[in-house]
Formats: sequence, structure tokens, C-alpha cells
Amino acid sequence: MYEGVVQNLIDELGLLPGVGPKSAQRIAFHLLAADPVDVKRLAHALLEVKDKVRFCRVCGNVAAEEECRICRDPRRDTHVICVVEESKDVVAIERTREFRGTYHVLGGAISPIDGVGPDDLRIRELMARLADGRVTELILATDPNLEGEATATYLARLVKPMGIKVTRLASGLPVGGDLEYADEVTLGRAFEGRRLLDV
Ligand SMILES: [Zn+2]
Repeated sequence: MYEGVVQNLIDELGLLPGVGPKSAQRIAFHLLAADPVDVKRLAHALLEVKDKVRFCRVCGNVAAEEECRICRDPRRDTHVICVVEESKDVVAIERTREFRGTYHVLGGAISPIDGVGPDDLRIRELMARLADGRVTELILATDPNLEGEATATYLARLVKPMGIKVTRLASGLPVGGDLEYADEVTLGRAFEGRRLLDV
């Protein structure tokens, strides 16, 4: 459609989540018209995030150091682990100020259609964290949709023989939705009203 480099940019932008062909074109032309200083700053931010941000070796959350801010905080209760799909879910739960335990970020949810199985998630790492018997409660805060429910059920069955209390966030969260889109009050209530998951 356009000269090589411009089309290249449009194609790359179009690969981003939520950016359709029209938006990709609009962003590309915005960048073409923008001040070179602004565009360089954006390019730098993109490179820097790939260069500097890594994943916490304990919980899998995004981190600026070997361990994330939460795992490094001695005031957090390490006897309770809240399992989420993505780092953005950690941010959503932290906003409620309802939870003082630690997290485990799976990196997605079980989804046979998308070819994501248990081995593709950080489940082995979770089991390793539970092995010493110090964890007393595992809160399954995967998304309230098909994949999230399947993942929660899978984990609950896996953990059952270990005798750890397994809970799931209370209903009230928009079904079929994404945890990160729930408002703070709803998510906070769902946390407070979490129930034992019996599998
Ligand atoms: Zn961490």
C-alpha cells in the first residue's frame, strides 16, 4: 500500500493487541508528523523496557531486579499465595489494598483452543513454592471466564493432596470478563468473600 518503510511501520503496529489496520495507519502517520525527539523517546522506552524489565524469579511478576517489589517486601505474608494469570492482575489486586500475601503469576491460562497446556504456564514453579509446606492458603484469582475456571479447577485438583486450603474469589465479578477490568470495590469484595474450592 505505502512505500516500504511506512508500510513496515504500519505492519508492525498492526501486530499490537487492540490495534486494527486503521489504527495502525493512524498511529504511523501521527509518528511521521511528530517531532523526531518525541519519536526517539518512544523508541528508547520500547528498547529500555525489553532491556531492563525481567520477571521475578520467585513469583513471575514483572520486576526491575531479580525479585519483584512485592517478593522483596518483608511485610508481605508468604504463607498466602494468590495465583493470577498476568502481571496486570497483580496491579488490579494491589489497587484494592485487600491483600497482604504474595503472588504467583502463571503467564496465562489453560486454553486447548490456543494450544496452551499446563506445561506452558508457571505451574511447576508454583508446585516448587508449595513443596516446603509453609503455604497455608492458595487463592485462585484466575479470570472469571472459561479458561480461568479451567485453570483454577486444574490447580485445585493438583494441590488437593498437599492439604493446602484452596480458595476462589467470590462471584460478583463479571463472568466471562478479565480480572483487570473489575473495579476496585467489586474486586475487593470478591477477595473478602472468597470461598473454599472443593474439587
Ligand atoms: Zn515476585
